[in-house]
Amino acid sequence: MTTIDGKATSLRIQDEITTAVEAIRKAGGKVPHLAAVLVGNDAASEVYVGHKIKACKRIGFDSTLIRLEENVRQEQLLEEITQLNADDDIDGFIVQLPLPQHLDALEVIEAIAPEKDVDGFHPINAGKLMLGLPCFAPATPAGVMELIRRYDIPTKGKHVVVVGRSHIVGTPLSVMFSRPGVDATVTLCHSRTEDLASITRQADILVAAVGRAGFITKDMVSKDAVVIDVGINSVADASKKSGRRLAGDVAPEVAELASAMTPVPGGVGPMTIAALLTNALQAAERKALDLS
Ligand code: NDP
Repeated sequence: MTTIDGKATSLRIQDEITTAVEAIRKAGGKVPHLAAVLVGNDAASEVYVGHKIKACKRIGFDSTLIRLEENVRQEQLLEEITQLNADDDIDGFIVQLPLPQHLDALEVIEAIAPEKDVDGFHPINAGKLMLGLPCFAPATPAGVMELIRRYDIPTKGKHVVVVGRSHIVGTPLSVMFSRPGVDATVTLCHSRTEDLASITRQADILVAAVGRAGFITKDMVSKDAVVIDVGINSVADASKKSGRRLAGDVAPEVAELASAMTPVPGGVGPMTIAALLTNALQAAERKALDLS
């Protein structure tokens, strides 16, 4: 079984971006600047944003973290976004999700200038993705596709089964796998899917994006399938100092059947960061060429 090493691949991509940033700097160009807005003190969001800012520093991007109080009003958040849209020094920015309950996430996303929407969540970018037009693709699906490409996993005519249909993972992945050139045949499953196991067993490539630890069990996977585990779940583990550890949506024993599989952690998670940084570099390049 091949372990699809997202961490190593992400670091390789980050090295490639570092080289690109050095070239920009040497040519006297502007170094890409990524900003992140973090509302409140959600522990997981703190960790995710922390990784993103750390990666920016590692590859030589400028970065700005804007922290807003948990009880920030919608208008204040929208004002912050208006400022980021207008700030010529910022090439791209993200608003870390989920937002506190009292905020309207869709309105917030729609307020982001599409040319700075490096998370690819704005309806304009989502629509362009559907149409196969140049756009910022959402980072997690883009990271999955990059892993598939870099590991030379055949997709043409293969059956890809995606479990989970969220707007940020499952649905865009189903579009990306079925695009001409990738040419997979895609089945998109969700909580209303009947006899899920009979469908997942047909998968040449099985993607789990459900949000339930160990949801995909051995009986749901056929021998030699490629298994991509997007899930990041916190589960109790008495052997850990913190009492918890991260677990994917795929049960570990699936590795006995799969031909290749992503680990959790160290699989899709780091690739999400690599894809976000790739989007931010593109945003800066497009801005420099005045293409946006
Ligand atoms: P959502 O909760 O938005 O979506 C979960 C999907 O799973 C829904 O479409 C839901 O179906 C489906 N589902 C739930 N229960 C079942 C079931 N019993 N059978 C079949 N389908 C089911 O999650 P996200 O897409 O945001 O995230 C999924 C996982 O990926 C989470 O663990 C999350 O932490 C992780 N994640 C990881 C990232 C990374 O960087 N690696 C980035 C983003 C997410 P329905 O639509 O019918 O409700």
